Amino acid sequence: MPLRVTFLGTSGAIPTTDRNPSSIFVAREGEQLLFDAGEGTQRQMMRFGTGFSISQLFVTHCHGDHVLGIPGLLQTMAFNDREEPLEIYTPHGTRRTISSLVNALGNRPSFPVQITEVGDGDVPYRADEYEIRAFATDHDTRSVGYALVEDDRKGRFDRARAEELGVPVGPKFSRLHDGEPVKLDDGTVVEPEQVVGDPRPGRSIVYTGDTRPTVATIKVAREPDLLIHDATFADDRVDRAAKTAHSTARQAAEIASRTSADRLALTHLSSRYAGYTDDHEQQAREVFDGEAFVPDDGDTLEIPYPNDEP
Ligand SMILES: [Zn+2]
Ligand SMILES: [Zn+2]
Repeated sequence: MPLRVTFLGTSGAIPTTDRNPSSIFVAREGEQLLFDAGEGTQRQMMRFGTGFSISQLFVTHCHGDHVLGIPGLLQTMAFNDREEPLEIYTPHGTRRTISSLVNALGNRPSFPVQITEVGDGDVPYRADEYEIRAFATDHDTRSVGYALVEDDRKGRFDRARAEELGVPVGPKFSRLHDGEPVKLDDGTVVEPEQVVGDPRPGRSIVYTGDTRPTVATIKVAREPDLLIHDATFADDRVDRAAKTAHSTARQAAEIASRTSADRLALTHLSSRYAGYTDDHEQQAREVFDGEAFVPDDGDTLEIPYPNDEP
C-alpha cells in the first residue's frame, strides 16, 4: 500500500525563484490529499505530475502563503468540469476567510465545496484504514497542525505453525488471521493467538504548518515515520523565530527527537536562506539521530512500513 508525500512548496512567507509557498501533497492508494495551498500550488501540481484529483484540503492557518493558491486551483478544477465535492478543513474561526477565497470572483465553483472548522483533538477525516487528526499549534493566528495516522495492521500470520497444528490450507487460515478460533476435523480448537502475532503499527505523517515548538506535536502520533516541521530560521535568528511564532531547524529537530520520528523534513524556510540550507541540516542533525533534511520543491518521498514489512 504505497504512501507518498510530494513537497509542492517549501518556502516561508515570501517565495523564492526555487521555492513556492507552502503546500504538501499526499497520495495513499488512490486517494489524494492536500495540506495548505500557497499561491501557485496548481502550477506545482502540474510541474510535479500529482494531478488534481484531491478529495480533501487541510488548511493549517489563513496566512496568505498557505491559502492564496485556493482561488486559482478551484478555478482550474471548474474549467476541468470537476463534479466531485471538495472538503476543506480550516481552524475554528476562519470559515469566512476560506469562504471568501472559494468565492473570490463572486460566483460559486461548479462543484460542491464543503468547509469544516477544526480544533485541537478533532478527527476531521476518517478513511477506511487511516484518519487525519488535528492538533494545536502555536502561531500568531488561529492555527492547527495535522497528522495522518494509519490503523494498526493485523499481526503476522505464522503459516508454518498453522500447518504444524494441523490447520488445512484454505479458508480456516483467513478466519484465524481475522481473529476467529477454528475447529479441526478431530475436534481440536486452534485459537488465533497461537498463529497470529501482535498487531503491527501502521505508518504516520505529522505536518505542523507554522508554529513555535509545541508539546502537542509530540503527542498527536507515536513515533511518526515522517515529521514535517516549520524550520523558518536557523540558529542565527532564534529570537526572531520566537517573536514571529516560528521555529528554528534545531527546535524542529528537538521535537523530532522527543517524538522519536524516523525522518524530519525541515520546511517553510525564510527567503533569507535562499540557496543555502547547510546550516539548517547541520544544526538539526546535532540534536536528532534520525534523518533530517531540507526538501526541495518537487521532492517525493515514499513512506515504507516500519522494518520494511510488506
Ligand atoms: Zn507561512
Ligand atoms: Zn503563518
